[in-house]
Amino acid sequence: MKAILLLGAPGAGKGTVAEWIKKNTSYEHIATGDMLREAIQAKRPLGLEAKAFMEKGALVPDSLIMQIVNERMAERGPDAQYLFDGFPRTMEQAKLLDQVLKEHGTSVSLVILLDVPRAVIIERLTGRRVCRKCGAVYHIKNIPPRVAGICDACKGNDLYQRPDDTEATIVKRLEVYEAQTASLIDYYKNKGVLKHLKGDVPREKIQEAVQALLKEKALC
Ligand code: AMP
Repeated sequence: MKAILLLGAPGAGKGTVAEWIKKNTSYEHIATGDMLREAIQAKRPLGLEAKAFMEKGALVPDSLIMQIVNERMAERGPDAQYLFDGFPRTMEQAKLLDQVLKEHGTSVSLVILLDVPRAVIIERLTGRRVCRKCGAVYHIKNIPPRVAGICDACKGNDLYQRPDDTEATIVKRLEVYEAQTASLIDYYKNKGVLKHLKGDVPREKIQEAVQALLKEKALC
């Protein structure tokens, strides 16, 4: 078992990096935010429990998050390589993840921290649109689809704005990040596994940097 983590504020570009890693390696992508949105759409009890927290921009309780992460890891088994995206988000989650990895004789191999200035994050998130069918991500100004309103990837015609991508909720999510998630930076720095990447550069540049990092660490 191997584990790579993507860390960074909402809108830092974790999803974009994850897309690239997923396409080019055999890492299993575990994005807790996506899993929660799927659970909401499928009207599963866990989704209904998580919904109110997400709409407010608050974190979902650790117990629910660990439940979905543990379920997914149990499905994939001990030989899988995991790419965690948006998880862990609290010290409690980080410690519980360490415990699970330890039970498999391993630990976190690499944490990629995406650094992006706050103004860029707000601009990115307020303009973000997501394809409801396949999850592809666009931006109304910076990455518009080739045909307005139509997803380039799956040709679906429902590009929507996430309910938590409104300005007030974004500000709240950034506060939550600072209060509850940013302390993980020091936690992983002290373990010697943290690498900073500049997130406000063109996609290709980030992809090149990620590829170089995975090679350097012999993780792909
Ligand atoms: P994301 O798609 O990663 O931006 O997550 C969207 C929302 O889902 C967050 O604002 C939280 O409400 C919730 N969420 C996702 N991952 C976690 C996590 N690891 N811990 C707690 N809440 C989470």
